[in-house]
Amino acid sequence: MCIHNTMPPARKLQWIELSQKAIDKNIQSLTSFALGKLFAVCVKANAYGHGITETVNMLLENEQVNYLTVHSMREAIKCRRAGWRKQIMLLGPVELCDTDAVLEFDIEPVVFNTKFLDNIGKRADKFNRKVRTHLKLETGTNRQGVIEKDIEKFATVYKKYKSLGKPYGASTHFANIEDTTNHDYAEYQLEQFQKLIKVMTVHKIKPKIRHTASSAATILFGKTHFEMVRPGISVYGYWPSKETYLSHKLDGGVNELFEPVLTWKSRVTQIKKVDADAFISYGCTYQTTAKSKIAIIPVGYYDGYDRALSNKSYILINGKRAPIRGRVCMNLMMADITDIPKVTLENEATLLGQEKKELISANKIADWADTINYEILARLSGEIYREIVL
Ligand SMILES: *Cc1c(COP(=O)(O)O)cnc(C)c1O
Repeated sequence: MCIHNTMPPARKLQWIELSQKAIDKNIQSLTSFALGKLFAVCVKANAYGHGITETVNMLLENEQVNYLTVHSMREAIKCRRAGWRKQIMLLGPVELCDTDAVLEFDIEPVVFNTKFLDNIGKRADKFNRKVRTHLKLETGTNRQGVIEKDIEKFATVYKKYKSLGKPYGASTHFANIEDTTNHDYAEYQLEQFQKLIKVMTVHKIKPKIRHTASSAATILFGKTHFEMVRPGISVYGYWPSKETYLSHKLDGGVNELFEPVLTWKSRVTQIKKVDADAFISYGCTYQTTAKSKIAIIPVGYYDGYDRALSNKSYILINGKRAPIRGRVCMNLMMADITDIPKVTLENEATLLGQEKKELISANKIADWADTINYEILARLSGEIYREIVL
């Protein structure tokens, strides 16, 4: 009998394993491209679906990691609660009510609005605290970022508050580095960046550190590294794209730099024999052509197994491919085990990861679902139990 006083971790039906060895290796590979630079690990989006608390745990002892970068104040606080004492950079917007939390949790916000900068300066002056900020510069992605003619306004605010001093960092983000092997646009953005840094210098707000490089730029472009790199996806063991991998190969680079950190597993909760011509799941989109054996897996699109994978993907059972039949449901899906011997009730199944010689990578799932590996990982439900393995 299972009687729980507190919420039980649903360990038995599905779980995620995180490899400490893999993340250490990936960081080692990435830092070898950016020797002597500050190294920031991007743990936004629940650490790309890996679990922010567990990921911070895996990074706590790693002396190569100087910074964590997050999107929200909520994520920043989770990092602090997980025991992270080093620097945290907050990339996204900060709500007005969270201004004091920047001071309380010692967070370094990336700034792109004068209103926010003014607020934080006012509060920090009041409490006699120093704040490190990073100015985000617009160089051609046209997302968050400060355009050239507004830099002067920011300079005025920086000068108004003692607590702000000069911006600690200046940053930008490339629009087209992972999607192509042609890097002209990245070169253009780099020139813009240099130009805007000069404008900052003219207005006497020269930053101490400059940072522009995500994983692709860290791997491919030494001249984007400046004083710090801030990779995400490759820390978790994935190439940002096929094009990044190809560019790296064309540059004569070696493979086997990265190893996926995450494995997603579940169990068979029912085995069912069905006749020929039977329909499986909603909408009767799959019809058996012969007598078949179907395994029910208690995972669905709620957990992050994309409904677009209906009738397209397979999972691994006993090291063999078990095709998903019919629609993926909210909490369940059906896998064909007709040709897999010795499947038992509660047999383990691998949804993402390696089993014997077979590998289902986030890239493969992304191809099936017509999206990118980032999205497959980031959408893994935060509710899934996660554990670190060595
Ligand atoms: C997400 C993000 C990164 C990391 O990008 P990857 O492609 O995952 O390495 C770096 N910088 C900024 C501003 C980001 O938003």
